[in-house]
Amino acid sequence: MPKEGKWKHCISVIFCCWLLLCGPAFGFVIDDSLTNNTPNNFADDLQDAARWSNVPGSVLSNVRGLGEGLEYAIAPDFCAQIIPLFQDRQPPTCPQIEAEIQKALDHWGENHAVLKFTPVTPSLTAQLPPEGASEPWRGFGAEIDLFVLSPEAYPLVSNFGAYTSFWYTNQAPIGMQGQPLSGKTMMSADIVFNNRSCYFFNPQIPISGCNHFESLLTHEVGHALSLDHPNEFPQRNFDTDNIPGNTIPIDCQQPTKTLKLVSQIDPKAIMNSSLGEAASPQPQLSPDDLGGRNFLYPLCQAMVPSNRSSSKPNPWQLFGILLVGSFCCVFGLATIVQQLGKRRRTKWRS
Ligand SMILES: [Zn+2]
Repeated sequence: MPKEGKWKHCISVIFCCWLLLCGPAFGFVIDDSLTNNTPNNFADDLQDAARWSNVPGSVLSNVRGLGEGLEYAIAPDFCAQIIPLFQDRQPPTCPQIEAEIQKALDHWGENHAVLKFTPVTPSLTAQLPPEGASEPWRGFGAEIDLFVLSPEAYPLVSNFGAYTSFWYTNQAPIGMQGQPLSGKTMMSADIVFNNRSCYFFNPQIPISGCNHFESLLTHEVGHALSLDHPNEFPQRNFDTDNIPGNTIPIDCQQPTKTLKLVSQIDPKAIMNSSLGEAASPQPQLSPDDLGGRNFLYPLCQAMVPSNRSSSKPNPWQLFGILLVGSFCCVFGLATIVQQLGKRRRTKWRS
């Protein structure tokens, strides 16, 4: 079922109104198409959500899900199509664009041990399913495909900087703890950039009327994970408390616990369909965006790599540490601390 991803111009007056109307409590919104035939019952949106199943395996062996990361393919002509649309004084190169795509995807995987994104180009070619395909994911590209197309070739992208469509089955998805959940199973998502739009690469030099590429893609990836626009559907917005902009704590065993409908939306959420100006760079996720992610893909603490395990020294390092320590306790201790600190930072950076 197609789902539109919007990133459109918005007059600043509307943005100001939001700020004035926003009381405490922000939150996140599950995709509005997933109503399970109860379009007026917003409280059950949490049960209706589509998710990528937490199953092992790769799309390269016809298994779709979080195993091997969410695997994505970039259309062969992506760079050739989009580079001329960048209005920066010095447009990005194709390797820079590919790195920026990975960066935008990785925002959604930050501090999450399972939700990762893996490029599979050119092993798989990005491909849109033909109109009317009975199973529009089977044999058509990777789990997430990225394209640049004209509105004539892909009418859904008309009037938008980019547009995300996804397909799901009614099969119960497998949750992060390996249990079947209610809702739908996400099978495929296509992110299409509009070749009539303009973009800019450098967030330090925004270009009015154009979209910041990384921010826009980060927004679209939120759709590919099943999130929707809080500003468009404030009546479907969820949070756990009345404190604006704070972290939304999600119970990993019982993710719906304490979530309640709140109508005040977060003006800083990247999942808003408009942010005051299309040009506003906003590559970072807000706590509410992360709350939505953590609801859909909740991790228990044990699944998050701990600093302790990541800083475990190997035998050679242990030997070095003992050697240094035997000569000088004070300098040896300083060396250990420095060593562990370096390893931890390196681990998280990778
Ligand atoms: Zn959108």
